[in-house]
Amino acid sequence: MGTDVRDRLGRPLRDLRISVTDRCNFRCPYCMPRELFGPDHAFLPRSELLSYDEITRVVAAFASLGVTKVRLTGGEPLLRRDLAVLVGLVAATPGVADIALTTNGSLLAAQADALRAAGLRRVTVSLDSLDPDVFQQMADTRISLQAVLDGITAAREVGLGPVKLNTVLRRGVNDDGLLDLVEYARESGHLLRVIEYMDVGSTNGWLPDQVVPAAEVLARVAAVHPLEPVGRASPGDVAETYRFLDGRGELGLITSVTKPFCTDCTRARLTAVGELYTCLFAASGHDLRAVLRGGADDEQLREAVSGRWRARDDRYSELRGRLPAGGPKAEMSFLGG
Ligand code: SF4
Repeated sequence: MGTDVRDRLGRPLRDLRISVTDRCNFRCPYCMPRELFGPDHAFLPRSELLSYDEITRVVAAFASLGVTKVRLTGGEPLLRRDLAVLVGLVAATPGVADIALTTNGSLLAAQADALRAAGLRRVTVSLDSLDPDVFQQMADTRISLQAVLDGITAAREVGLGPVKLNTVLRRGVNDDGLLDLVEYARESGHLLRVIEYMDVGSTNGWLPDQVVPAAEVLARVAAVHPLEPVGRASPGDVAETYRFLDGRGELGLITSVTKPFCTDCTRARLTAVGELYTCLFAASGHDLRAVLRGGADDEQLREAVSGRWRARDDRYSELRGRLPAGGPKAEMSFLGG
């Protein structure tokens, strides 16, 4: 375990989420609305993205400061070429005990084997509906639901199961399909996590009355399948977990709006262009690419990271509602959720 660096609220640095690309093959309106990310949208040129060697250097710096869990995200991370190479480099970094991937699943079937062989341990797939029409509406894509379901099956077959299934529930859009998702997860043995719809970024037109509170989700599910609370798997874990009393698995609830969990937030985020963000709702990050490409040695890079973490006091979700509305926030597709 690396040096234990703490932020201004005493929180250690344990988790690093790395966005490896700003590109995606979906256009989920709550993340990448097509009207803003249309055919003329200029995605980041390759030269501006951190190379795999640069990412690996940054991971080593974070690992030396206490990070043990690394999650690869995007955009859609499987659009970045040869992602298994990066998985292998991160897996070989001292201190990193766990590597996970968050994906929309549409490209997973073809890559699951290579990712597993390179050292990937866990995968989370976004799955907002099992109704093909609602799925395509929620993802604003022509890619089929079946492609995602095939990706989930492939992940299990190569030993990446049980898969975590992340569902962003929006009232009047996909909440009618909640119980179908619960049944699918119970039958397939995967772990469904229902996420309260959040005001991430500045483009998704978030409205509080579109949020289905976790307490309501729990009541709707428990009315059919009784559950008991299990709590959080570890202090920094984002999901509160409940166990089905009939033994058919668990349900996770991610409650950023109604029950914020900033007190235990141990997550840092690295964007594809090397900016360090200390909160999902932050407006700006700290440029580590300039540090890297400016010739910094490992100690200087480590200092840049620890200095930023020590200055951290983010707790946006706890302050939501008390902050001026409409403040600038980085886009989720850029931060990787
Ligand atoms: S709002 Fe920011 S500080 Fe709070 S849990 Fe989310 S990322 Fe962490």
